[in-house]
Amino acid sequence: MKISPARVWREKNARYRLEGGRCKRCGKLFYPPKTACPYCGCLEVEKTELPKRGKVLSFAIEHGVPEGFRHQAPIIVALIELENGVKVVSTLTDVNPEEVYIGMSVEATLRRIWEESDEGIIIYGIKFIPTE
Ligand SMILES: [Zn+2]
Repeated sequence: MKISPARVWREKNARYRLEGGRCKRCGKLFYPPKTACPYCGCLEVEKTELPKRGKVLSFAIEHGVPEGFRHQAPIIVALIELENGVKVVSTLTDVNPEEVYIGMSVEATLRRIWEESDEGIIIYGIKFIPTE
């Protein structure tokens, strides 16, 4: 996977805002943004900013982590309901797996998710951290 530094910079901003999609026909919000509405299939979707805070609805601890991500294991994958009701699947960080519980308050933050050491390119993405 080759990603240019310029693109990384552009996406860094986009990701930090926690951008989702909004369907212009049915008005539903969804994350991540897609080119078609997952509810009605409409292609008229626009990007919109979502609230960064939410609560954990459910979670799973992933011990089998792909090559390149092993130093991050185990990964906590959570289904999070944002303050406006939009559901997001993301990873939790800055928390021990045994401390995660249903209903925990979390907040989106921008974290290094992957590093291409040869070219010094660092990929950032949204992760969620506890707010309590
Ligand atoms: Zn729709």
